[in-house]
Amino acid sequence: MQDTIRALRALQELDTDIYRLKAELKRLPEERAKRRKDIDQQISRVEERQKAARELRTKIKEIEDTTSKERQRIRKLENEAANSRGDAASLAAYQHEIKTLKRDISNAEEQGLELVGQAESIESDIKSQRASIDDAEKTFAEFVKNVERETAEAQQKLDALLSQRKQRMAKDLAPESLGLYERLLVAREGVALALLDGRICQACYMEVPTNLYVRVARGVQLTQCPSCDRILFQSVS
Ligand SMILES: [Zn+2]
Repeated sequence: MQDTIRALRALQELDTDIYRLKAELKRLPEERAKRRKDIDQQISRVEERQKAARELRTKIKEIEDTTSKERQRIRKLENEAANSRGDAASLAAYQHEIKTLKRDISNAEEQGLELVGQAESIESDIKSQRASIDDAEKTFAEFVKNVERETAEAQQKLDALLSQRKQRMAKDLAPESLGLYERLLVAREGVALALLDGRICQACYMEVPTNLYVRVARGVQLTQCPSCDRILFQSVS
């Protein structure tokens, strides 16, 4: 039975590395996807800001077109007033319309200035956000390169470990011992064995009964922790 325990401990050593590598191979693409998503969200926020800036610029242009037409109209009215040869009623009408137009222009210009201020502030935001996206893209490209390298390395190590494991499994172990070990490996996330230190299981930190401790010490059969089910071993075995 000590041979079985030894073989299982050797297997557990391999499996611990295998589990670690598999976790790494799962984590790396998840991390990459998360970082990509963060940048894409930044990009779509900037696109929204750009849309808002374009809309403001369109409004500003409309205001400019309107006031420029109103100015032309004022010039025309001033001309007509100058040529009206003192007809008091029509002169008053011209002046009234000119006054109204000037007031409209002044209001529109005030609004236009306010909109220009808003547009400029948004455009300056966009500029700094663009710069931060550029930085993020550079960092991301670097990260992707590292991920590819780390993934290839991890995969290579994993393949080597898996082939070592296959060789080791073929000998040394009775099928029922191996079967128990493998079930526990899956059920206990890669840790099927537990060191028994004194009477304390070092995987779940529960105390085992004395008779169980004695059984592990004798090492005549595989003994499982009553609390976490893992196969117990002592450091001497
Ligand atoms: Zn335990």
